[in-house]
Amino acid sequence: MDRHKQGTQCLHAGYTPQNGEPRNIPIVQSTTFRYESSPAMGALFDLEATGYFYSRLQNPTCDQVAAKITALEGGTAGMLTSSGQAANFFAIFNICSAGDHVVAASTIYGGTYNLFVVTMKRMGISFTLVDPNASEEELHKAFRPETKAMFGETVANPALVVLDIEKFAKVAHANGVPLIVDNTFPTPINCRPFEWGADIVVHSTTKYMDGHANGVGGAIIDSGRFDWNKYADKYPGLTTPDPSYHGLVYTERFGIEGAYITKAVVQLMRDFGCSPAPMNSYLLNVGLETLHLRMPRHCENALAVARYLQNHEKISWISYPELEGDKNNALSKKYLPNGSCGVLSFGVKGGREKAEEFMAGLKLASIATHVADAKTCVLHPASATHRQLSEADLIACGISSDFVRFSVGIEDVNDIIADIENALKPL
Ligand code: PLP
Repeated sequence: MDRHKQGTQCLHAGYTPQNGEPRNIPIVQSTTFRYESSPAMGALFDLEATGYFYSRLQNPTCDQVAAKITALEGGTAGMLTSSGQAANFFAIFNICSAGDHVVAASTIYGGTYNLFVVTMKRMGISFTLVDPNASEEELHKAFRPETKAMFGETVANPALVVLDIEKFAKVAHANGVPLIVDNTFPTPINCRPFEWGADIVVHSTTKYMDGHANGVGGAIIDSGRFDWNKYADKYPGLTTPDPSYHGLVYTERFGIEGAYITKAVVQLMRDFGCSPAPMNSYLLNVGLETLHLRMPRHCENALAVARYLQNHEKISWISYPELEGDKNNALSKKYLPNGSCGVLSFGVKGGREKAEEFMAGLKLASIATHVADAKTCVLHPASATHRQLSEADLIACGISSDFVRFSVGIEDVNDIIADIENALKPL
């Protein structure tokens, strides 16, 4: 285990160059790897030897970057995927089949909602969405005998609801299932969900980890703590022979620390091939090298913007977990004492029309279907990501028509505030 502090891990974890080797993680831009004999290759296919054979499953560049994120989260094994969507899909599908059920927080990101409630439903996996602020008793009621996992986002996109990870973990474990937490917004710099009882962490690395809007990507990290063997009947994919590897049993061969990720790599990556390009993983690593410097700046800037907007006459409401009085402030203080993220949301007085007018007036902040990178950007969900919804549907999913999602970057905060001020002035 890497025992360095996170600021050092951001630079060094996952790759230790030997004498004369490159200091930067090398980009292994190769689909395949050469072996001297068929038996040597065969041992890889039987998972008896470690090594690389085909980049659809694994690639050294990607693995070194995955190892860095694993160290930052404090996990035992990790993998990269080609997107955050792929990470969330794999995280669930690795332990669920048709007929299974998952309990998820209702505030999850819209793309994850579609993946779960529309697409995975077609695969026979059903989801019950629960209010993340529900009591333990209410959460228990959502579980069924066929429930295989519980899921939530540390800080929900765009609702900014902070997950009570301990409460969710307690309920998940009492029902004999792992808690999977999407930790995209705080990143491990601001919260390490394993320390609060989560079992598996997923990321859209597209956001702060990459940090520069260079590449779409995802990651899955295992804490190695969930005892699949204790619930062997529930997780046959991990605890009974896999016919596609001559009857290998993942928990027997790789232990509870390695079974989950190994299965996801050698089975799901093999079959679905959502692997990131080595070049993208390299760029992700460049982003990770400054994650510990960027996150505090994002949070500091976002808090200053939130305080500026809090008392502005043209702003009807504001949501930012670190603001005193915010409904998520108590949970934020507990789980995110050093800051949450750079994303905040607010309403412009006058509704949709004024929100759109405000956005058109911004010069520094760009209108983009993105959040959480170095440059400030802004989105009006009601006319973009949630455009197809009626006013009633918008209200049901917590997106009012005046809702502006503002992703505060790491520019000089005075310039960000001046940009907002100029755009609000003519309204
Ligand atoms: N999870 C969260 C919290 C997100 O915000 C997003 C994207 O915005 C995703 C997952 C999906 O990630 P990607 O866009 O990398 O597929």
